[in-house]
Amino acid sequence: MGLLDRLRAGLAKTRERLFRAIPWGGNPEEVLEELETALLAADVGLAATEELLTEVRASGRKDLKEAVKEKLVQMLEPDERRATLRKLGFRPQNPRPVEPQGHVVMVVGVNGVGKTTTIAKLGRYYQGLGKKVLFCAGDTFRAAGGTQLAEWGKRLGIPVIQGPEGADPAALAFDAAKARKARGLDLLFVDTAGRLHTKHNLMEELKKVKRAIGKADPGEPGEVWLVLDAVTGQNGLEQAKRFHEAVGLTGVIVTKLDGTAKGGVLVPIVRTLKVPIRFIGVGEGPDDLQPFDAEAFVEALLE
Ligand code: GDP
Repeated sequence: MGLLDRLRAGLAKTRERLFRAIPWGGNPEEVLEELETALLAADVGLAATEELLTEVRASGRKDLKEAVKEKLVQMLEPDERRATLRKLGFRPQNPRPVEPQGHVVMVVGVNGVGKTTTIAKLGRYYQGLGKKVLFCAGDTFRAAGGTQLAEWGKRLGIPVIQGPEGADPAALAFDAAKARKARGLDLLFVDTAGRLHTKHNLMEELKKVKRAIGKADPGEPGEVWLVLDAVTGQNGLEQAKRFHEAVGLTGVIVTKLDGTAKGGVLVPIVRTLKVPIRFIGVGEGPDDLQPFDAEAFVEALLE
């Protein structure tokens, strides 16, 4: 399956259950009413849905579908430069490779969202771009966390820095960042703990991990990516804000878009956090990760 087919397959639930039935060519008010219902059910959220409907109405455009698509793209990727290119009729490269800043990517998110699997998929993706990758199994709190990442590493031929269960995650991340530099590898992905409701303060621990990486390799981590699960929809947003406050996110990865009809949740994610979506997860296999492309995403949702 090609990239676009996989994207369409991943978004099938949202598209088929919510957007397929919209009678685009019919009475405009009816169309907008049905659209409103679909957007809310897809977890676009009330504020964004109202904004979208108001702008589409005010635009006075006849081709409602195109107007909706344009607005959705703009909401999903409010990048001025790309918006200008689009207005001039250029379609940005689809999808662009995601080039991380620096060499170390810290990956955060609560347990169960698909963080470990996503790191494996990222490793595979960057291997495919010819990069030499290293993993750090920084979730030392969960014994299975390290083992699972080590297994992926073996399968993909990616070395993994691992400590004993209960090891200090900041010390391990420090060692991994040093090792990446010493071995001259291109990219290090640092897995982190994602447990909530424990005595230890997760956010404080994540800050410490981030500082340790910076001590081992000044300027790093160049990126801090949050993994969010689309199935939980807007409920994950409050948590996302706390991660952002603690460690300063530079990107978001949304997983499990294949398992939900809440594909619209990407809109409130971008609105709330004001950080770009870098990748989306559309399945459990190592290749089921795609660089996020707003145009392709909106096409797959509405067509
Ligand atoms: P972690 O606790 O956040 O590290 O989560 P895991 O990486 O262990 O993943 C939890 C479950 O989600 C596993 O069964 C994964 O196969 C599954 N998973 C991860 N990403 C995706 C995705 O994009 N789509 C689907 N359907 N399942 C996913």
